[in-house]
Amino acid sequence: MKFDSLIIGGGVAGLSCAIRCAEAGLKTAVIAAGQSALHFSSGSIDILSHLPDGQPVSDPFAAFEALKQQSPEHPYSKLGEDAARKAIAWYQGTMEKRGVYLTAQEDGSNHFRITPMGTFRSTWLSQQTVHQFPQNELAAGLSKIALVTIDGFRDFQPQLAADNLAKLPQFKDVEIITAAVELPNFENMQRNPCEFRSIDISRVLRDETKLHAFAKGLIQKVGKADLVVLPSIFGNGDGAATIKLLEGLTGFKICEIPTMPPSLLGIRLEEAMKSHFQMLGGLILSGDEVLRGDIEDGKLTRIYTRHHHDMPLTADHFLIATGSFFSRGMAAERHQVQEPVFGLDMATPANRDDWYQDEFFAKQSHQFMKMGVRCNEQLQPSIANQTISNLYCAGALLAHYDPVYEGCGSGVAISTGHYVAEQIIAKQQRHQTLENEQQERTFA
Ligand SMILES: Cc1cc2nc3c(=O)[nH]c(=O)nc-3n(C[C@H](O)[C@H](O)[C@H](O)COP(=O)(O)OP(=O)(O)OC[C@H]3O[C@@H](n4cnc5c(N)ncnc54)[C@H](O)[C@@H]3O)c2cc1C
Repeated sequence: MKFDSLIIGGGVAGLSCAIRCAEAGLKTAVIAAGQSALHFSSGSIDILSHLPDGQPVSDPFAAFEALKQQSPEHPYSKLGEDAARKAIAWYQGTMEKRGVYLTAQEDGSNHFRITPMGTFRSTWLSQQTVHQFPQNELAAGLSKIALVTIDGFRDFQPQLAADNLAKLPQFKDVEIITAAVELPNFENMQRNPCEFRSIDISRVLRDETKLHAFAKGLIQKVGKADLVVLPSIFGNGDGAATIKLLEGLTGFKICEIPTMPPSLLGIRLEEAMKSHFQMLGGLILSGDEVLRGDIEDGKLTRIYTRHHHDMPLTADHFLIATGSFFSRGMAAERHQVQEPVFGLDMATPANRDDWYQDEFFAKQSHQFMKMGVRCNEQLQPSIANQTISNLYCAGALLAHYDPVYEGCGSGVAISTGHYVAEQIIAKQQRHQTLENEQQERTFA
């Protein structure tokens, strides 16, 4: 099978590249082995919350220059501010087409989102159902907040969150209450506690009669509140609409927070991206895994997958976005870290003792978090120092950044995926123009 572009990895990096390629009319396929990191994510898009030296960042794009000074090899330093801004704006617009509204603060600064532990994490874009706590005034407009769970649901403990929240000086004048609301049909679900997960609850609440009963229970337990915080228990596709309905029924302002995996807020992004890609004519080979490829004269010619090992896939351009250790995009042995599909050149500290800090909760990033594939400015990797001209790399597989410590995971994934797509599109267009000119000369 021959494609214009083949994307290895179905996370946010791979899908961003795939959608952009498909939009430009390229015949594109994605091979996705398993679940992406989005199934574990908050569904908010972090752009940059800390510089590598630990300094907190207020306005992420304005900090790109300082980031470049500290980390010239950082993926953002290779892309530059304009390309990253363009990619994130494109992503917002694309998700909006699928009914997922991602917004930032009007002044371009980071905001805080509340975590299931009742702590706060800095991020840049959040879905419309996530309350944005302003950086400089966390509890602005809040005099009473209710943290509510479903009776018997184990993946969110409101009391724990409330205790942590109450410790914050900004919340000293805010009344914090907790409640557990019974879910209609709970007795039937309780027969199998393993099935009482966020995704199972979302199926129950899709039924409008049950949603009405739940709304009634919510009003009874909460009374009045400026903000009602609920675990993310509303469906992937229609979750935001269900919350709007619940807000209408109760009169509350509702804020979703991610639960233990599966995280419906993250899955909502993935489902939206996949359906958009397929709507554009893209092909997704789910559950298949790329095992190896043939490199000839500095070019990747074909790849072999677990399901199609006797029928290689070919393309003009390839992207590898197989994620970090978490998604098996990288494999660690005692003394070396490898990219398992092609054996790409890695950026790894030579001395193993430098891989990590002595203390787990260190003030600096652990070096293993910054390990990854070494690339040139165009995000092209190499094997034994020879660049592969039609292969690119994006997302968590890239070296030289720490998505957790620097708070830039999805931002890097989207912007590098988009950056690669733009290069592929430009190359494809140049190729097409040359072919047309050649044809004209032949017929002249
Ligand atoms: C637990 C967790 C929580 C996070 N929370 C947030 C957050 O709230 N906000 C934020 O901005 N960032 C967050 N991040 C960071 C961010 O989500 C990741 O950096 C980003 O999603 C990485 O995307 P990716 O596409 O590069 O990789 P991944 O999402 O890891 O996707 C890689 C994909 O490639 C597939 N794959 C692997 N090998 C192969 C192969 N050989 N063939 C085919 N497919 C293959 C995998 O199965 C997977 O589907 C979080 C990360 C983690 C781990």
